[in-house]
Amino acid sequence: MAITIENALIIMSVLMFIVLILIFITGNNKKTCIVREIYSLGTLNQIKVYGKNAEKAVKESIEKLCEIDNKMSSFKEHSEISKINKQAGIKPQIVSKDTFYVIQKAIKYCSLSRGAFDITIGPVVSLWGIGKEGARIPAINEINETLKIVNYKNVVIDKNNSSIFLENEKQKIDVGGIAKGYAADELRNIILKNGIKSALINLGGNILVVGTKEDGTPWNVGIQDPLKMRGEFALTISVINKSVVTSGNYERYFYKDCKRYHHIINPSTGYPSESEIISATIISDYSIDGDGLSTGVYIMGIHNAIKLIEGIKGVDAIFITKSKEVYVTTGIRENFTLTNDEFVYKNGIYEEM
Ligand code: AMP
Ligand code: MG
Repeated sequence: MAITIENALIIMSVLMFIVLILIFITGNNKKTCIVREIYSLGTLNQIKVYGKNAEKAVKESIEKLCEIDNKMSSFKEHSEISKINKQAGIKPQIVSKDTFYVIQKAIKYCSLSRGAFDITIGPVVSLWGIGKEGARIPAINEINETLKIVNYKNVVIDKNNSSIFLENEKQKIDVGGIAKGYAADELRNIILKNGIKSALINLGGNILVVGTKEDGTPWNVGIQDPLKMRGEFALTISVINKSVVTSGNYERYFYKDCKRYHHIINPSTGYPSESEIISATIISDYSIDGDGLSTGVYIMGIHNAIKLIEGIKGVDAIFITKSKEVYVTTGIRENFTLTNDEFVYKNGIYEEM
């Protein structure tokens, strides 16, 4: 059959149509992965998102991070936390829903940890200035004087008008030990709202994984070796849809006379915590719970820390001690691998000397 010009044109049009459809389908199926880093909440954060709306989800996430930092930073003069601190002993400060929620949750963890976690630790944290220029060892009388105003029970929260009041005029709150957890949860909400099935949120070492890895397998999260350079792991855990938050003595510190002074302050001494724990990881569904708990259990000592975490449903922990022992609570024992054989696995049973 001879091909007429008319037939040739029809065949070419059909072929072009098929090619266009193929381009459209493959273009739509192409997995996008967007990775962004941003300095916020006093630390370096990384957001890695897979999927069609990744760009939008990351953009919205970064906006949210900045919004939370603007509201909750202790260093920003106009933050809601600074406003609460300025009105201490004077009058209650009305705050946004976010800040109110974070403080309300924080008070819960202050109480659960029996004051090991205490958001009124702010003035003592400022004395030390750890992580800032001019960090120093304060005089003992300065510490003792300042400790008198550390008491989370003086934080009055009023749900009716969403206000916070510090009873003592010298008091200051610091939500640095829990705000990153809240931020990670908020970022997950944004990511899920954008229809994303796979993402990794890393807020200064606080990890929250959304779904599985892109290939459908669980995420492997490395737990920093607290005695080595950043990026060297003591162990890894395998998780899906979980928050993995670590408080460690390697995050912010300075050295004086060969001794490390780190940023987690024991409210009963006013000094950096000296329990046998040097790294406390909490694995939970919500990062705000992980963050609120990680700072407190770090200070509580291994025995009380294991007891507290074993009593909270859906929450697990991994503790690393000065003597390179690794304690793991019941729910996560099947999902971790020691990757550095200098560490000794002790399961969750702590034998007191
Ligand atoms: P994280 O890295 O979550 O353990 O939080 C540490 C941060 O929490 C520090 O940089 C301080 O801002 C603050 N902080 C230090 N010690 C305490 C404490 N005992 N209770 C509550 N917050 C604390
Ligand atoms: Mg914390």
